[in-house]
Amino acid sequence: MAQRLDYDLVIAGGGMIGMSLAIALDPLGLKVAVVEAVARTEQQQPSFDERSTALSRSTQRTFEAIGLWPQIVAASTPIRSIHVSEKGRFGFSHIDAAEQRVEALGYVVINRVLGSVLQDALSRQDRVDLHCPARISSLEQADESVIATLESSAGSKRLRCRLLVAADGAGSTVREMLGISASKVDYEQVAVIGNVLPEKDPDHRAFERFTHEGPLALLPIADNRAAFVWILPPGRAKSVLQLDDRSFTNALQDAFGQRLGAFSRVGQRAAYPLALTRANGLHSGRGVLVGNAAHGLHPVAAQGFNLGMRDIAALCDCLLDARRENFDPGAMEILEAYAAWRRDDQRKLVRFTDGLVRLFGDERRSLRLLRNIGMLGFDLVPGVRSLFARHTMGLAGRLPRLSRGVPLK
Ligand SMILES: Cc1cc2nc3c(=O)[nH]c(=O)nc-3n(C[C@H](O)[C@H](O)[C@H](O)COP(=O)(O)OP(=O)(O)OC[C@H]3O[C@@H](n4cnc5c(N)ncnc54)[C@H](O)[C@@H]3O)c2cc1C
Repeated sequence: MAQRLDYDLVIAGGGMIGMSLAIALDPLGLKVAVVEAVARTEQQQPSFDERSTALSRSTQRTFEAIGLWPQIVAASTPIRSIHVSEKGRFGFSHIDAAEQRVEALGYVVINRVLGSVLQDALSRQDRVDLHCPARISSLEQADESVIATLESSAGSKRLRCRLLVAADGAGSTVREMLGISASKVDYEQVAVIGNVLPEKDPDHRAFERFTHEGPLALLPIADNRAAFVWILPPGRAKSVLQLDDRSFTNALQDAFGQRLGAFSRVGQRAAYPLALTRANGLHSGRGVLVGNAAHGLHPVAAQGFNLGMRDIAALCDCLLDARRENFDPGAMEILEAYAAWRRDDQRKLVRFTDGLVRLFGDERRSLRLLRNIGMLGFDLVPGVRSLFARHTMGLAGRLPRLSRGVPLK
């Protein structure tokens, strides 16, 4: 008979979002379990890998509110401006931190480094049990509780809880176990990531360049290096991944141009097939979805993690507002309030990133014209630019406490 353990809340998936949620929940005094399938030290850890993530202002504020920002900022690079351009066209846009009256438009951190900070913080919390490596294999929902069975090399365990949070990524199996369907659109594009040393210091500038093959982003990281996210059709991605360092660097340089001088010392490359995944609902019974389990976005606007951080901030707010002695964290009213709150932000971001991918991927003449006018107009009309910047900084709409930097009490 499997051992049974009782919790207020079980988080399925201890990646970037699941771990952040477990830490954020601390002031609520709940007993929490995090179940993560792959150890953080594993080469194949799917969340804390060699990718770099641009953290928005609302994510920064959340980490400030939960007390982790000093460690994260020490390991990240601020973005002071974003330069958006299109290969072979003359329009470009520029978004500036000073113009937005903020110190930085975002901060770039390597996922693996963020993982160390989160893991250290989690290990200091005595109300959280981390079950890792272990995988949730089934769920049983009842009126008063839900039982998650987890499998590990030590055998199986049954975790009974009041609320089950699915934070197990875009391919979430826990979402399926909750009976929530999802739609998936394959973009037929692959993100090739890595980092490179440009001749000129990126000097806190991020670049987004649209090419006929797909967008290419360069983000400033430590030691004057730049992390790249290069989006390509699958066949082309496969062939550039087979190139030796010199030929790869030349191909990347050709796509990006000479704005930062010559590239050298390219690091290891990795590939991520891209799709848009949308859950058709955010809760079911005593289960709720956050992060990529709710929405897997194209990385074109660097928004997926930031959107997920707003999910967990809203969930924490809903739990805090309902908190009283012996309150039920899986109560239907709490989950409905969470879903109603998050629907709008998630829809807008899905539409925004999906629209961007389609607009810049379409070679029709009329759209090309629109793109150039769009980008120039975007640069000339301060209101438009400011609205875009507020979205990419995650400051538009009604924000929960953590996204505003207000600690939970
Ligand atoms: C190339 C690229 C660049 C990106 N850049 C940015 C960026 O700059 N800014 C930004 O905001 N976003 C960015 N994103 C998006 C961001 O990486 C994701 O939104 C984020 O990783 C989602 O985190 P998550 O914890 O929800 O899911 P994941 O990172 O997928 O983590 C899910 C975790 O659940 C675990 N798991 C899975 N199944 C089970 C199970 N049954 N039981 C237990 N555990 C399980 C997995 O091992 C994993 O650790 C980028 C994405 C890509 C592909």
